Amino acid sequence: MEDQVEEVKRKTDIVGIVGQYVALKKMGRHHKGLCPFHGEKTPSFTVNEEMGLYKCFGCGAGGDVLNFLMEIEGIDFRDALERLAEKAGVKLVAKRFEGGDQKQKLLEIMDIAARYYHWQLTEGKGGEAALKYLLDRGINQKLIKTFNIGFALPGWDHLTNYLTKKKSYQEELLEKAGLINKKNAGQGYFDKFRGRIMFPLLDAGGKVVGFSGRILPSLEKENEPKYLNSPETELYHKGRMLFGFYQAKQTIREKKRAVLVEGQMDLVSSYGAGVSESVAIGGTALTEDQITMISRLAKTIYLAFDADDAGILAIKRAVEMAEKREMDVKVVQIEGGKDPDEVARKNPALWKEMVEKAVDVYEFVMTHAMKKYDKGNVQGIKKITEEVVPFLAKIENSVVRELWMRKFAERLGVEVGLVRSEVERMKSGKTGITKPEPVKKIEEGVENKVEKLTKRLLGGLLLQPILRKQIKPWFEKTTLIGASGKALKLVMSQTEESPANLIEAAPSELKEVLQEAYMAEGSSENTTDKDIQELAIQLVREVIREEKKVLMEEMETARKEGREEDEDRLFAKVNELNREESRIVTFLG
Ligand SMILES: [Zn+2]
Repeated sequence: MEDQVEEVKRKTDIVGIVGQYVALKKMGRHHKGLCPFHGEKTPSFTVNEEMGLYKCFGCGAGGDVLNFLMEIEGIDFRDALERLAEKAGVKLVAKRFEGGDQKQKLLEIMDIAARYYHWQLTEGKGGEAALKYLLDRGINQKLIKTFNIGFALPGWDHLTNYLTKKKSYQEELLEKAGLINKKNAGQGYFDKFRGRIMFPLLDAGGKVVGFSGRILPSLEKENEPKYLNSPETELYHKGRMLFGFYQAKQTIREKKRAVLVEGQMDLVSSYGAGVSESVAIGGTALTEDQITMISRLAKTIYLAFDADDAGILAIKRAVEMAEKREMDVKVVQIEGGKDPDEVARKNPALWKEMVEKAVDVYEFVMTHAMKKYDKGNVQGIKKITEEVVPFLAKIENSVVRELWMRKFAERLGVEVGLVRSEVERMKSGKTGITKPEPVKKIEEGVENKVEKLTKRLLGGLLLQPILRKQIKPWFEKTTLIGASGKALKLVMSQTEESPANLIEAAPSELKEVLQEAYMAEGSSENTTDKDIQELAIQLVREVIREEKKVLMEEMETARKEGREEDEDRLFAKVNELNREESRIVTFLG
């Protein structure tokens, strides 16, 4: 297995794979781009082809091409490996990971069930009414195929029989897949989904992991929910699911935006109308995981939710989560129908236009509140302020916040100072309304100056072998400590010109620091020999300074304790370091 992993990695072009998700630009020996794992405006995400590694110097994400795929697609090691192996033309020996067996079986079952439902809808006799219902609603054959829509017959055991008798699967396994339930009384099982239009829920890799079933209207019963979703299983986790994500991924990346709708029907209709960057949250509250999935591909979300109270709450939630990721939120103002499904079905062109005309979320909130309440009286102004201020308080960027506060004050006809103080009050949590969660800022590196300089010099010397011999003697009288210090000593004594080969041959405990230093050396084409020499001198002086600091402290202690000999000895050492410092500065010339 190990060899095969290496083989797949070797045959995979990491720049090509990462480039599908991140716009990369060649800079020096590396490719750089905006990190897909955290919000940033200047690229600190680096990919190195030669080493087959990526590293973000903003959030610390990093690894090989398999790590990248696992992270960005939310898939496990095996899935990532299989996908790359297929692309690279490597036939994996069918060795299963521990515990991977059952998951594989469950995926197999879900796939067969989806095919079965789809067949019932498109070709089976029992699916005719359901098919007519969909076609009447403008969901054509092409959409049915794209989303692999199916139909679960109204009986109690169609799927159970098919999977146990025809396909010989054990009932326990089908129950684990969330497809059948145990009977309350008596023996045996029954189908969970009955008389429902079935929407398969796919993971990011396109595998069926669950279903959402909408009851066929003619079969609606009072005590049955309109939508029934798969239970949480080994495969399906509802908070991590975005319906249509697999189909929309490519367009989201291209258009740099995702249109978020509520239900499955909204999604299919919106997609059918040509807005193929649509995804649905599928009747749950928007989760952090869902926002994260989108933020990896695009930085703008269009919310196409109902503008009722629940919708406003959902919008508020979305804004909070999006602000933390430096994403922009726009709101599609739905008119001419009660939901995206209705509008998109009636008038696809109008729906497309509505999406294009989406307004900034803060604009939307203001307009919405001003329509709802009268700004002509005090009570109205109070209500409007209560609705708008919590949104303004959540804006992370202070310039943007200031702009919106001014806009709001102007529209409301009050002094901006009043709005500002309300926003400040809310931000500091002095109002009764709960304060937004503190934003988790990415921690600034706690590395000290020496560490930073060492790593930079390491990177420089990895790329400029000629300078190693020259610079090595400069460090003769100083002590380099830590992994980076050791790595620097190692590099200075090497003649190997290829950084990749040098790192490969290095002791394993130094590999990581070497890789990192090498990857950090971004636009190395512009680094001159002089730059590196200056860096080296800066480092030596910094190390000397640190060493002197320690010596001086020891000297002070010795003096206080009356140990004169020690004091003299330490003093000599300090002097020696002073001489060393002047000696090194002369090297630069
Ligand atoms: Zn990052």
